[in-house]
Amino acid sequence: MSTAALNFSGTWSTADLKALNERFEDASAFELLDWASEEFSGDVVIASSFGLEDVVLIDLVARHELEIDIFSLDTGRLHQETYDVMGRIRERYDREIEVYFPDRERVEEMVQQKGPNSFYRSRENRLECCYVRKIEPLGRALSDREAWVTGLRRDQNVTRKNTPKIELDRGHGDILKLNPLADWSEDDIRQHIDEFDVPYNELHDRGFPSIGCAPCTRPVEAGEDARAGRWWWEAPESKECGLHTDDTGAAQ
Ligand code: SF4
Repeated sequence: MSTAALNFSGTWSTADLKALNERFEDASAFELLDWASEEFSGDVVIASSFGLEDVVLIDLVARHELEIDIFSLDTGRLHQETYDVMGRIRERYDREIEVYFPDRERVEEMVQQKGPNSFYRSRENRLECCYVRKIEPLGRALSDREAWVTGLRRDQNVTRKNTPKIELDRGHGDILKLNPLADWSEDDIRQHIDEFDVPYNELHDRGFPSIGCAPCTRPVEAGEDARAGRWWWEAPESKECGLHTDDTGAAQ
């Protein structure tokens, strides 16, 4: 199927999504990114927390000079190592990184009412904190976009095993959500980073396969699920922050 045949505009039907996924299921990550760059030039963005998958996406986009922007959510609770890799990525690729912070008044209200670490006390508190520090800023980051790119992979966690290459993000105005690395393994990611000498978060070498906010991330033991160190006090099937949920609101 030609690119022109998939050059949609406006809303995306189920048939459109089926056709796109059939086209890109066996395509490389670069091919999907290249298509997105042409299709949504200036209106497509990588959501980066500077994890291993994110730096691979940034490397692909930067080296091939694709017209895909980069943004990051600074929750105010990140590891110093995450800020370090953000700085190294900026220097290496000379690409602008848009940074979105939480709404100051909402953070102040939450922390004054419940304290700085309320997320350990209940899942409700944890979701509230993730909403204030991540979900609301994400909504702002995507408000004028037609598509966004994530580093989701199917083998990261039970909640991600059915991740398609392309999906409709109903929660953000029916824009497309692209997951070019959905079928990559962790070895594929590491191999790419080694081959192209991509800067990465050094916490990954200290037992952190998945890195989020400092108080909610810990190293994992050998053989543990890659996301076992995220919100480790909660059940595996509930461990998403709301950045990646389907249109029913269920965790993926
Ligand atoms: S990961 Fe933890 S600190 Fe970060 S926003 Fe969610 S609950 Fe808050």
